[in-house]
Amino acid sequence: MQKKYKFPESYFTFPSHVSLEHLKEVEKQTADVMTPAYIIDEAVLEENLNILKKVKDATGCKILLALKAFSLRASFPLIAKYLDGACASGVFEARLGREDFNKEVHTFSPAFSDKDIKDVIKYSDSVIFNSFAQLHTFGPLVKKAGKQVGLRINPMLSKSPKLLYSPCVAKSRLGVTAEQFKGEDVSLVDGFHFHALCEQDADSLAEVLKKFESDFGKYLPNLKWLNMGGGHHIVRKGYKINLLIKLINNIKSKYGLQVLLEPGEGVVLNAGYLATTVLDIVQNKGNVAIIDASAETHTPDVLGMPYQPCIIDAAKGPLKKYLYRIGGPSCLAGDVMGDYSFDKPLERGQKLLFTDMALYTFVKNTTFNGIPLPNIGILDKKGNYKVVKTFSYKDFVSKL
Ligand SMILES: *Cc1c(COP(=O)(O)O)cnc(C)c1O
Repeated sequence: MQKKYKFPESYFTFPSHVSLEHLKEVEKQTADVMTPAYIIDEAVLEENLNILKKVKDATGCKILLALKAFSLRASFPLIAKYLDGACASGVFEARLGREDFNKEVHTFSPAFSDKDIKDVIKYSDSVIFNSFAQLHTFGPLVKKAGKQVGLRINPMLSKSPKLLYSPCVAKSRLGVTAEQFKGEDVSLVDGFHFHALCEQDADSLAEVLKKFESDFGKYLPNLKWLNMGGGHHIVRKGYKINLLIKLINNIKSKYGLQVLLEPGEGVVLNAGYLATTVLDIVQNKGNVAIIDASAETHTPDVLGMPYQPCIIDAAKGPLKKYLYRIGGPSCLAGDVMGDYSFDKPLERGQKLLFTDMALYTFVKNTTFNGIPLPNIGILDKKGNYKVVKTFSYKDFVSKL
């Protein structure tokens, strides 16, 4: 099977502000860490936060951390210094946002249950509904509690690299379409929300915003805010930040709206690593390395998206001299990170650092096969590493 490698020699999936010198430092600073471990790089995280702050300063918009992408409590104090709050996907994340992030909490779910709605309202500053039925059933309770009511709109134009991530296909359950608005009462609604991007630059936002405005612009003068969701890759190198600023300022001044963004990836892009160790090397019509981290259990997006993550000092595919297929210790035959090549042969006990492993990793991992979960550690700006979360047999057995 021939495979195309987009940036075979890069150490990042997306263009990054992080320098090679910094990565070399990180390699040294993490050489002795116990593996497997997710390592959060505070220097990169803070650089990202400073980029987001520029957008806030230039527009007065609010930026929320999407907890579903990254919810390491130990990092919340740093993030909360820059951002306005958190966006939650339901009752547990709303509570996490309230109790640990401790700033604004904005909660959206495709459907809230009778059982959860009271707590959702208690922990949230705004509750965003996905249908008119949910709005009419629960909206009055939100108002009575003095909180904000939002409605998720489906602009039916999505910019997403994969269909799996597009909310704007026929039979999508995400958001109210223009057709569904006929004859509906929107007097309870304080703000609209749309989320139609995934890993996108600002020109994709411009396209979606144009379609959104042509279909829903007539409602905007009566609203207080517009939440433009996530999927903004603002901290990616080369992102058109001035265009984003222009788009926000335009819509804000045209309709007198507060604008909110709720990026997940766009907060922690490239701000983490997965440190692993080579456990064994076997041969089967080629070299195969088995590491102590698993794609299936520890980086599920590698198989789900799917994509091939980068490893420092390795090239994707056969560009360098020594080629290996690298996979994990689970039973799944396809528990494979990908094919990588190196300047020197791999050795048992050797450390490998996967990049861009802060987002959608530890929030999604599982203990399938009883595989222990990696530690989570923080590498601070001085290069000191501290483990903030470990997992034991007790954690594994407690959920079974
Ligand atoms: C997933 C999601 C986000 C965050 O998306 P990123 O791609 O991580 O920026 C924000 N808002 C909603 C409603 C989402 O579903």
